[in-house]
Amino acid sequence: MLKEEIIRQLEEIVGKGSILTKKEDLATYAYDGTTTWAHPPDVVVMPTTAAQVSQILKLANENLIPVTPRGSGTNISGGSVPVRGGIVVCTTRMNRVLEINKANLTATVEPGVVLQDFNNLLAKENLFYPPDPQSFLSCTVGGTVAENSGGPLCIKYGVTKQYVLGLEVVLPDGYVLNIGGSTVKNRTGYDLVPLFTGSEGTLGIITKVTLRLIPKPAARRTIMAIFDDITLASSVVSTILANGIVPAKIEFVDNFVIRRIEEKMKIGLPVDAKTMLLIDADGSVAAVESEAAHILEFLQSGGAEVARLAKDEDEANMYWKARSAGFAAVYGAARTVIAEDVTVPRDKLAEFVKKLEGISRKFGFQIVLIGHAGDGNIHPSVFTNSREKEELDRLQDTLTAIFEAALELGGTLSGEHGIGLEKKRLLSRALDPMAITLMQRIKALFDPNNIMNPDKIWES
Ligand SMILES: Cc1cc2nc3c(=O)[nH]c(=O)nc-3n(C[C@H](O)[C@H](O)[C@H](O)COP(=O)(O)OP(=O)(O)OC[C@H]3O[C@@H](n4cnc5c(N)ncnc54)[C@H](O)[C@@H]3O)c2cc1C
Repeated sequence: MLKEEIIRQLEEIVGKGSILTKKEDLATYAYDGTTTWAHPPDVVVMPTTAAQVSQILKLANENLIPVTPRGSGTNISGGSVPVRGGIVVCTTRMNRVLEINKANLTATVEPGVVLQDFNNLLAKENLFYPPDPQSFLSCTVGGTVAENSGGPLCIKYGVTKQYVLGLEVVLPDGYVLNIGGSTVKNRTGYDLVPLFTGSEGTLGIITKVTLRLIPKPAARRTIMAIFDDITLASSVVSTILANGIVPAKIEFVDNFVIRRIEEKMKIGLPVDAKTMLLIDADGSVAAVESEAAHILEFLQSGGAEVARLAKDEDEANMYWKARSAGFAAVYGAARTVIAEDVTVPRDKLAEFVKKLEGISRKFGFQIVLIGHAGDGNIHPSVFTNSREKEELDRLQDTLTAIFEAALELGGTLSGEHGIGLEKKRLLSRALDPMAITLMQRIKALFDPNNIMNPDKIWES
């Protein structure tokens, strides 16, 4: 519980209309995209300038009050859950696109800009910002930088960190730090920009971001393929890549997910398909036609039951709309859904999928699959019920088994969702102990009072 005096000072900083203190308002900031974590803050503030953020952090630091930065709260690692209460700094009102520089292929934005709004603006200039977490309709640029988010397009275009050129970050003591810039090359001392990209709100609050853009590809073709064996589909993905073709996207969903999406959206998906692969080729018109033709050949010779080009833009959009609805469809399917985020080397995908089938049988949980087949990042989603103690204990063993299976194949704990609260239990298994020590020292250097998003990433 914060002192009245602190609330009054916060109100003075952001103004009466930009502070929430009522219990029912605070309750809505207790959650993020996870289904297992919840804790309300003592107060929510919605600043509109970096100067306000600076004053808020100064006040918090002097009074040792925990601060949790928050964009749209869509992360699925517990990252924006204020587990120690304190202040939630919600950046959604800092939502201006400050500059789109077509000649330099860069844009500078405030952290609260919603990704889809940003890309809609860029499209008018024939520009494109590729990182595409499937929460793009609501997630903020600040959240995606703090999580170093990725999405289907990352197989060809890379993840967020490949696009962040410059940052303005307010440090826990209130200092407004500017790092990087707007040049594509920048070799000036230690590169601090990527340190903040993926720091999950534990080092400071990002208040401005300069991003690299690319010209919008001239053409795109979407291919849909159906397989009756999920491991066969995974093998074909490896074959496509091994033959030097890097499509813009290669995504897969399993039968359960296809059915759930169809139930919700009624768009004519092949509900009997065991696995559906969706692949995009993009680039110049000639390159796309040739790439798509090669991909079709590999799919057909690799055992696809059906492999065909979407007949037009509407059909292509329908498939991708369905794919982005995948998580929402899965989340509604059980009381508690844990969407894992393991990533394996791409050529190990088929083997990993087999292991997951074994884990599902062994632990007795339904595990459905949705994922970025092109980069080996899979979201095995485990259905459970957090109100059943026995299930929760078994769940922990299941998640450990999933992670160990990925690790055995040379994989990693998280491809894109980050560690937050959800995966910190497993961090020490994923990293060299010295790597964790160094990270903790970096955290202490930036945030000696440990006010920024405490209790995240590692066990304290
Ligand atoms: C349906 C669905 C699909 C998803 N698909 C993907 C996907 O394909 N790929 C992917 O990578 N993720 C995905 N996610 C996860 C999530 O959407 C992303 O992590 C997203 O980037 C979070 O943005 P946000 O604005 O909601 O941030 P929040 O959830 O509010 O915050 C995320 C983290 O960033 C910190 N943070 C937020 N803003 C700032 C700031 N200004 N400064 C410093 N720290 C900050 C928070 O403290 C927190 O730790 C998905 C989530 C859902 C619900």
